[in-house]
Amino acid sequence: MTVRTRADLDQLPAYVAGRTVPGSIKLASNEVSGGPLPSVVEAIGQAATEVHRYPDMGTTKLTEALASRLHVAPERIAVGCGSVSLCEQLVLATCTAEDEVVFPWRSFEAYPIITRVAGARQVPVPLTGDHALDLDAMAAAVTPATRLMFVCTPNNPTGTLLRRAELDAFLDRIPSDVLVVLDEAYWEFVTDPDAPDGVEIARNRDNVASMRTFSKAYGLAGLRVGYAVAPEHVAAALRKVCIPFSVNAIAQVAALASLEAQDELKARCDSVVAERVRVRDALLELGYEVPETQANFVWLPLGDRTQAFNEHCLENRVVVRAFVGDGARVTIGLPEENDAFLAAARTFQQ
Ligand code: PMP
Repeated sequence: MTVRTRADLDQLPAYVAGRTVPGSIKLASNEVSGGPLPSVVEAIGQAATEVHRYPDMGTTKLTEALASRLHVAPERIAVGCGSVSLCEQLVLATCTAEDEVVFPWRSFEAYPIITRVAGARQVPVPLTGDHALDLDAMAAAVTPATRLMFVCTPNNPTGTLLRRAELDAFLDRIPSDVLVVLDEAYWEFVTDPDAPDGVEIARNRDNVASMRTFSKAYGLAGLRVGYAVAPEHVAAALRKVCIPFSVNAIAQVAALASLEAQDELKARCDSVVAERVRVRDALLELGYEVPETQANFVWLPLGDRTQAFNEHCLENRVVVRAFVGDGARVTIGLPEENDAFLAAARTFQQ
């Protein structure tokens, strides 16, 4: 006799993280390359002297700072161990067995995995031919069993953005007992004036939550902290299904210090955006198809050539994120890192 694990897990792929290859440039996980914001490093050092104590389980200071910055009551905020943890908490808080979670596909890889682990049913909705979310198809996928929808904008891995008017029209069509989660992990990199502000929408609609993270623009991926702005009773449920103390003390201090470093954040985002434009233009010039992106990455829908492209980049010491048979996602790094990637892209036999 051996210990038995859940039979349904056998069918479930494990989450695949972007690889780190020693000696190579990593452009595989949508991290920022410049490190945490400079003023935050000091706060992290100070917080380290307190780690013999459990963290504040209510993440009080960070929650209050977010609440005042985002103009919502603190009761409407839930802080999580990365926004991926909040994704799971959202499913656990809204779904029981056989309830349905609608999400775009291809999109953030954790959506299907987390849905299944929580025992709910996956309802993936294919993207449009332009690599964008198909909001009509997503609205049509809602059934009486739908409890939750993930709407990723800009979408990972395609970078495409929803515009405010189309999102509003979509939300008008969704039943008020279905929670729509706007996953805005790349929010700080968005420059399009027609972009929706998920927090503003969450303030004005009773069935919408916005989810953001300190992992990307703020440069704290290794510390694991994200947050959701949700209806008050949903935020309360998110706290109930959270593993106690999962947002660690250093993460709380670093996130709080990051919120104070808006000038540093702006400078960082401006340089990522400038490089995003430069990299995309260069790729278009080389003849690649590259959907317009509002995130800190570009998407190359290479189809069958994805694996060859991935290997070619690896040979040139650049690690990208390949989704075999579909495309490659390449993070915007520092200018010299992007130059190394573009050199590899230039020598790939298309
Ligand atoms: N949502 C999206 C769309 C993402 O791309 C990611 C990270 N790849 C996450 C959520 C999770 O980010 P984190 O857990 O680091 O906050």
